[in-house]
Amino acid sequence: MQRIVVLAGGIGGARFLRGLKSAVPDAEITVIGNTGDDIHLFGLKVCPDLDTVMYTLGGGIHEEQGWGRAGESFAVKEELAAYGVGPEWFGLGDRDFATHIVRTQMLGAGYPLSAVTEALCDRWQPGVRLLPMSDDRVETHVLIDDPDGGEGARKAVHFQEYWVRMRASADAHAIVPVGAEQAKPAPGVLEAIAAADVILFPPSNPVVSIGTILGVPGIREAVADATAPVVGLSPIVGGAPVRGMADKVLAAVGVDSTADAVARHYGPGLLDGWLVDTVDAAAVGGVEDAGIRCRAVPLMMTDVEATAAMAREALALAEEVRR
Ligand code: GDP
Ligand code: CA
Repeated sequence: MQRIVVLAGGIGGARFLRGLKSAVPDAEITVIGNTGDDIHLFGLKVCPDLDTVMYTLGGGIHEEQGWGRAGESFAVKEELAAYGVGPEWFGLGDRDFATHIVRTQMLGAGYPLSAVTEALCDRWQPGVRLLPMSDDRVETHVLIDDPDGGEGARKAVHFQEYWVRMRASADAHAIVPVGAEQAKPAPGVLEAIAAADVILFPPSNPVVSIGTILGVPGIREAVADATAPVVGLSPIVGGAPVRGMADKVLAAVGVDSTADAVARHYGPGLLDGWLVDTVDAAAVGGVEDAGIRCRAVPLMMTDVEATAAMAREALALAEEVRR
């Protein structure tokens, strides 16, 4: 059986995984999920990217929105607001709340996040093994100008505040994964990477999703040293993110929002192959000059069949570059 490891953020990662499962239903897929987006709200531990993968693959996702539960209501949020308790800018529905309550209760009882995630997946049956990148707390913060702090002052805000409340409207000077240096890969992560037949980077955010996962000490090295070919799919199409504000966090790490700049950012030490969209076909030569095998194929995840075709292209490229 083919063992595939995927490093995934939220929406882009989850939608790609749905196509991958459809393309290779018999493969054993291990997902290493980003937990840098995690946030504590109302005393609850919320893991947006893990939940987006779990709900998407488990059939509970709000399809159009791409995150949160289908058929959601917001009674708890309204009641909290009536008490003046926020934040009001983070959308937590009643159904979703139950997930965070169960998670927080289990963490409080002493279970590590990896065990909690496994327990939540018992209900959702996502059809992949979903592992958090780490059981240790890592929280992505974004350094921005502080208009109230005087000349040249800066402040760090939680990634969710930057992304959801501010819609990434301020320039990001730096992305700081607080706690990453002390974090250890969750149980099974390094083993899955070492045992993989193929490692895929889906079209997830290269900085605050895949970059954060690779920033857990040991994971980048494990991917670089893996015997399996590593193939990525560009989240940047035609010089812009397909969805969201990835350009803002790419700028913070000095990377242009182009398919080839993202490939060179990962570099040939990590990537063996890279897929760009057909509109970026002109970028193929430059990526190959950087030592990364590259193909231009349609990369829009418009439906499961189109996404499955992307997954098949990624797996074909992996066979081509296999050493
Ligand atoms: P997040 O945690 O919800 O932000 O999700 P991810 O990190 O997994 O993915 C976000 C990235 O997915 C964004 O940079 C988008 O540009 C990219 N993305 C979303 N839909 C598509 C698509 O249909 N095709 C491609 N190539 N990228 C996409
Ligand atoms: Ca995310």
